[in-house]
Amino acid sequence: MYTETHLDLGRTFAVRLMQHLVVPTFVLDATRRVVIWNRACERLTGVGAPEVLGTRDHWRAFYDTPRYCLADTLILGRTEELTRLYDSHTVPSDNTLGLSAENWCVMPRAAKRLYLAIDAGPIFSEDGTLIAVVETLRDMTEQKLAQMALHSLANRDGLTGLANRRAFDTAIVADCQQAQRDTTALSVLLADVDHFKAYNDTHGHQKGDECLRTVAQAIEAQIFRQGDLAARYGGEEFAILLPNVDLAGALQVAERVRAAVEALHLPHGGRPDGGPVTLSIGAASGVPWDGPDILIATADEALYTAKRAGRNRVVGNAVTRPTLVEELYEA
Ligand code: GH3
Ligand code: MG
Ligand code: MG
Repeated sequence: MYTETHLDLGRTFAVRLMQHLVVPTFVLDATRRVVIWNRACERLTGVGAPEVLGTRDHWRAFYDTPRYCLADTLILGRTEELTRLYDSHTVPSDNTLGLSAENWCVMPRAAKRLYLAIDAGPIFSEDGTLIAVVETLRDMTEQKLAQMALHSLANRDGLTGLANRRAFDTAIVADCQQAQRDTTALSVLLADVDHFKAYNDTHGHQKGDECLRTVAQAIEAQIFRQGDLAARYGGEEFAILLPNVDLAGALQVAERVRAAVEALHLPHGGRPDGGPVTLSIGAASGVPWDGPDILIATADEALYTAKRAGRNRVVGNAVTRPTLVEELYEA
């Protein structure tokens, strides 16, 4: 049986243990006031314990505007706010296990942005009342930056900085599934630089690369709606994904892109008509019931038509599903 003295000694020992723990840790009581702010937390945040002990100002160590930290959301039972507050989070089905989340933090006093992995663990009294929450922090900045660099390497085109073919192929599958679920149109534009072989022959391959970079920037500047994606499809071909856009909308965007590249007035020097660098664009649009392939094939056909019709122009085709009667007839 513990005596009062044992308990006091135990408490003192527990507090000392927390203070010297190498893991940055702070503890809030049930009223969300800071009761422990350990040394490692002081080092990580640049905020000394005397500044925050007894206050609800712990957020100031991490963010520049008032908001809840993970421990606050656990005490207040506001787990529905985690999606808004954190880059990622997990809420175990058993709420006695606490919460985990990850976030970019401003760290105003430390004056450097850090990506923190955060765990908030509840402490209950013997009768099951929540008496405190322990929040522990891990600096994951280096790992996060490495992961972001890897993701960028895998999904960005090295020459233009646009999404690469791999990212486009992944995105079009996801967008097709979404469009099928919502029964909405998905549009694809395929844009190809006109007479680019002749451009390379005239200016050299390096100038050709520069030209592709400039054209890519001009394309990207016209693709600003959230969810739209501009990618380098290969060589001197670009692909643009426009979710929830019908053929009329797709033709508008395509024309905007075509006009933007023409307006660069990049001297071509090698094309038969003496004009500047231009794009031909094929558009395809429709509810993608049969998946991405038909959209791409239709856009490719439209692009071919645009080339044959004289280049520097936009051609669009709708993708339609054969009616039930046609399907029966074919069968
Ligand atoms: P069209 O108007 O019919 O599209 O004619 P084109 O000459 O553009 O078509 P073609 O497909 O015959 O040639 C494409 C050229 O694009 C050939 C290739 O050398 C060049 N190209 C492809 N990728 C790159 C690249 O990354 N950098 C440079 N500089 N040139 C590239
Ligand atoms: Mg081509
Ligand atoms: Mg070309």
